[in-house]
Amino acid sequence: MPLPTQVQIVEVGPRDGLQNEKQILPTEARIQLIDKLSASGLQTIEIGSFVRLDKIPALANTEDVAAGITRRAGVNYTALVPNEKGLSRALEAKLPEIAVFMSVTDSHSRSNTNRSTAEALATYPPLVKQALDQGLRVRAYLSTVFGCPYEGEVKPEQVRPIVEALVEMGVYQISLGDTIGVTNPLAVQRLLEYLGERVSLDTLALHFHDTRGTALANVLAGLQMGVTTYDSAIGGLGGCPYAPGASGNLATEDLIYMLHGMGIETGVNLDALVEINQFLSNLFQRQLMSKYSISRLST
Ligand code: MG
Repeated sequence: MPLPTQVQIVEVGPRDGLQNEKQILPTEARIQLIDKLSASGLQTIEIGSFVRLDKIPALANTEDVAAGITRRAGVNYTALVPNEKGLSRALEAKLPEIAVFMSVTDSHSRSNTNRSTAEALATYPPLVKQALDQGLRVRAYLSTVFGCPYEGEVKPEQVRPIVEALVEMGVYQISLGDTIGVTNPLAVQRLLEYLGERVSLDTLALHFHDTRGTALANVLAGLQMGVTTYDSAIGGLGGCPYAPGASGNLATEDLIYMLHGMGIETGVNLDALVEINQFLSNLFQRQLMSKYSISRLST
C-alpha cells in the first residue's frame, strides 16, 4: 500500500502531557501554550480535562483555559470527559469535541478509575449518545492496547471487542494507546490487520509512547497500514508515569520531522514547534525530551 500523502496530528501535550508533569502550569501559561500550538498549524489540540478538580490538579480550570484561548478557524479543540458532569462542563465551554477514555485491561482500569473495563464500557453508550445529540464529535482513548503495567502483554483479541463497541456507540475515532511504550512495528501491523477485519482503519488513530525508543518505527508501521491520525505531545511533555525519567508521549517535533522528510504533509510549521519547546523548557526549567528540538538547539 502506498504511504498516505497527508497525516493528521492530534496534539495531546496540554492534556496528556501536563497531567503527568509534577510542576503545575498557571492557567495563563496553558492558554499561551495552546495559542502557540494552534498558530503552528496543528489542527486538533486537546486543551484539558473535565474530570473532578481534585483528581488532576494540573488540569483544573480547563473552563478558564477554554475561555481564554484564541479560537482559530479550522482548529478543533477537544477535552477529556469522564461522565455527564464533565460533558455539561465541556458544553458550557463550547468545545466542538470531547474524548472519553478507558483501558483494555482491568487492573489498569481499576487503578485509574476504580472500575473494571466492562463497567467503564457500560457507562459510555448513554454519555456518547448525549454528546452526539448535542452536536459534539466524540473520540475515545483506549489505554494499555499493547501492554499493561500490571498485566504485561495484551492480545489483539482483548482489544477488538472494545473497539467494535466504541464504533457502535458512534465514537468517530479510537486512539490506540501504547501506554507503557512496549510495542514494536510487527505487533502494530498484526493488531491493525486483526482490527481491520471488523472495523475501518479510518476510525483508528495511533498513540505511541517512546519509552523504549520504538515510537517512530511504530508510526511507520501504522503509515504502511494506511492509518492517517497520530497523537503526540510537544516536547514529549509528561514523561512516563510508570518509569520516572523515561520518555512517554512521542514528541510532536520528532514525528513531524520524520513525516515531512518522507514527503507527508501535516500543515505544521516545525520551526514554530522548536520555539514552543523552548518556551516550555524555560517554564519547566529543564530541556524537554524531543530529539529534533535538542538537535536544533545545539547546532
Ligand atoms: Mg500518552
